[in-house]
Amino acid sequence: MAHPKEILNRLKAIPLKSLSQNFLISPHWAEKLVEAFLCEGQYDEVWEIGPGLGALTQILTTKTQKPIQLFEIDKKLSVFLKEQFPSIPVHQGDFLDHDWNQLISPPRKVAVLSNLPYHLSSPMIFKMAENKNVLSHFLFTFQKEFADRLIAKPNTKNYGSLTLITEVHFSLKNLGTLPAGAFYPAPSVSSQAILFIPKPDSSEMLKTISLIKAAFSHRRKKMASNLKDVFPEVSWEACLEEAGISPQIRAEALTLDQFRFLSNKIK
Ligand code: SAM
Repeated sequence: MAHPKEILNRLKAIPLKSLSQNFLISPHWAEKLVEAFLCEGQYDEVWEIGPGLGALTQILTTKTQKPIQLFEIDKKLSVFLKEQFPSIPVHQGDFLDHDWNQLISPPRKVAVLSNLPYHLSSPMIFKMAENKNVLSHFLFTFQKEFADRLIAKPNTKNYGSLTLITEVHFSLKNLGTLPAGAFYPAPSVSSQAILFIPKPDSSEMLKTISLIKAAFSHRRKKMASNLKDVFPEVSWEACLEEAGISPQIRAEALTLDQFRFLSNKIK
């Protein structure tokens, strides 16, 4: 594939910061991401969000026979993609505006790949969580600082409600760090690739999420006091004691299993 600079010149376009347009130029990483992505799970089709100039798409087309669909917001790039990959549907527009019911229905499953626009990291993860019934797995690259929050351990500054709510929905595999030089233009930070495998929904999931949100509502306050504000009907000190947890504890010290145990106390 030609260098993005050359293609963009031809298209009379420039990389748009507002759309997080940093194009992958490392053949090593492009291969590695697509390989890891295609090897996971059981799926009927493949979607790529923000294919840009097609660095990942190009490899996808050579490595899978499954139907592919592309979702690109940029009009000029969408036209370019349609020319490059004439047999692949390109949906021009904001991926977050799509109604998944119009695109896929169970029992079909989709695998989703994206060298993600950084500014959409959280909404994209939540979109995936909403559509787990048709999702085989997804692989996203994130700004490293954001990825650090996803894979953080208890009692660290990056650990919080994002870490735990993501863990409620998905198992995560960290695929490594892409240096800034793997992209054109090079961003100011490095990126992290993470593969997400959905966990089955359970009846207590929503309760656990409400509890996590309440527990982290005021990070500096003791967790029992945060929980009391939202669920005053529960005697939290007694519940913590029963679980062998200090009533003085702050939310960032608890594991997901401990949150699950406590969520059973909510009526
Ligand atoms: N996948 C390409 C690559 O690896 O070289 C481009 C990645 S670039 C970081 C992000 C891409 O997402 C850009 O092509 C951008 O136009 C597109 N994009 C940004 N916001 C989007 C949205 N809301 N929906 C779909 N695509 C979007």
